[in-house]
Order: sequence, then C-alpha cells, then structure tokens
Amino acid sequence: MAIWNLGSINIDHVYRMEHLPLPGETLAANSYSVGLGGKGANQSIAAALAGGVTQHLGAMGEADDWVIHRLQAAGVDTDNIQRLSDNVTGHAIILLDSAAENSIIIHPGANRALETSALEKALRPIAREDTLLIQNETNCQIAAARIARATGARVIYSAAPFDLDALRDVMAHVSILAMNAGEAEQLFAAVPGDLPVQGLLITRGAEGVEYRDLEGDRVYRHPAFPVDPIDTTGAGDTFAGYFAAALDRGDAIPDALRLASAAAALKVTRKGAGDAIPSLDEVRDFLS
Ligand code: ADP
Repeated sequence: MAIWNLGSINIDHVYRMEHLPLPGETLAANSYSVGLGGKGANQSIAAALAGGVTQHLGAMGEADDWVIHRLQAAGVDTDNIQRLSDNVTGHAIILLDSAAENSIIIHPGANRALETSALEKALRPIAREDTLLIQNETNCQIAAARIARATGARVIYSAAPFDLDALRDVMAHVSILAMNAGEAEQLFAAVPGDLPVQGLLITRGAEGVEYRDLEGDRVYRHPAFPVDPIDTTGAGDTFAGYFAAALDRGDAIPDALRLASAAAALKVTRKGAGDAIPSLDEVRDFLS
C-alpha cells in the first residue's frame, strides 16, 4: 500500500492589481505572494496528509529547495524527484485584478522534461497493492501507467488539463478515470459509449461527486458539504489525493467519497493551493 504520484510541481507567483495590464502597459502590483502549486504537488500533499505513504515522481530545477521542504513537511517522500540542471521548476504567473478576474501564464519547465529511464527505475518497487496517480501536466504518463498496470497496481488518471489525445493514449492502462464536470462533458462528446476503465469519478463542484463502478454497474453519489467558498483552487486535487489515499488503504467507495468531499470542502474555505490543503485531523473534526 503506497501511492506513487507522477505529477507536476509549480511555483505560483500571485500578483494583485487594480486592473490587468493592457498590451504595452507597465503596472506596479499592490501585493505579491508565492506558493506551491501544480496539480501533482497538490495531489501528493493531499494524499500524504490523508495518511497515504506517498512518493512524488516528478521533476524540477536545481534551485527552489523550499519546494522540497514544503512537500516533505506534508509527509511526501521526495527522493525520486528529478533535479534537472538544464531546466527550471515549472511556474505560474498569476495576475489578479480587484474583481478577482485573472490572467495566467504557465511555464511547464522541468514538469515536461522528466527522464524516462530515471522514472522507470524509480517505479521498479511498485507493487500490486499500490496506487499510481497520473495527470496531464508532465511527460512519461504512459510509461508509468504501463509499469504500474503490469504489476496489477491501481492506476488513477486525473485527466486534467483535458487533452483528448493524451487520454486516448493512456486509457488502456487506467483503472479509474477522475475528472470534473467540464472535463467529463468534453470526454462524453468525443468518446460516446463504453470506456475501458473500472471506475469513473466525476466531481461536480458544489453539486458533489459521483463514482460510476463500470464493472459492478453501480453508481455512488455524495453531495458537497455546505461551506462558504473562498477559493476553489485545488479542490479537485485535494479530492483526488484524499480519494486515492482512502482507496489505497482499502476504504470502501462510499467512505472514500465522504472523506475526500470533506477534505475538498475544507480546502475551498481557504485561500491557496498546496499550502491550503487540510490535514486528516482537520477533516475528521469537520466530519464529527
Ligand atoms: P476541480 O477543482 O477539479 O474543478 P470540482 O470543482 O469538481 O473540481 O471540485 C472537486 C470537489 O471539491 C467537489 O466534488 C466537491 O466535493 C468539492 N467542492 C468544490 N467546490 C465546492 C463548494 N463550493 N462547496 C463544497 N465543496 C466543494
């Protein structure tokens, strides 16, 4: 029972200003903050905080040691993060105006430059009772999913950002496909009919979540917990990490859906991404 998460690491630089800059305009920001983000890092933090033995598989530049420390503080094993001397850590420049409208530039950097042979070596110990998480912000997903499925491990694919070609390529090696409502709509428009996976997880924001057990032909639903949302960034990642950790330790689907829904509901009451994911104690308090 361990979670192997092949995923992105991003540094989020957030600048707040009255209005977004127009072409050619130079603006001073009113404030600046920096935080850890990237779907992969968020999911690793969520899985580790949920109590899963979590290995992050990913890549970053040689600087930015604080990122490693932040992951380790959440309990994530960082030994298999590749430090690439000829690349930079992925980052996002996020501009927010006074009406919370945003413009975002993402530079994937090292996230898309993982070395396949090092990744394959890192995954050698993966075992049948383990879980591999993948999403679309890195390279090497197919190589990783193949190795994991060959051992019989569960592969959960968080299919975001939506990419139909990537999804078609990796689908045969996936056990559970996880997506939000918008991504599911795009998938069903492009791929009508049966999907070759065991389960389909569709999160629907404030409307809750459904899990379709395609082998057992059952649908499980859980409503969202009523909270006042402050920032929904990372809600899906928090859900995915908690859900993966719950399944990995053998929880039944309804229990995993309840725990992950509570964790994600707590996350949306807090500003930030990776730094705002609640601990298991906080989630249990919220549920009691
Ligand atoms: P994503 O962040 O990937 O777009 P969703 O918006 O579907 O994903 O959110 C994932 C999960 O987070 C939901 O299924 C729900 O459990 C929880 N969630 C999201 N928004 C809210 C909200 N406003 N209130 C309570 N829970 C929420």
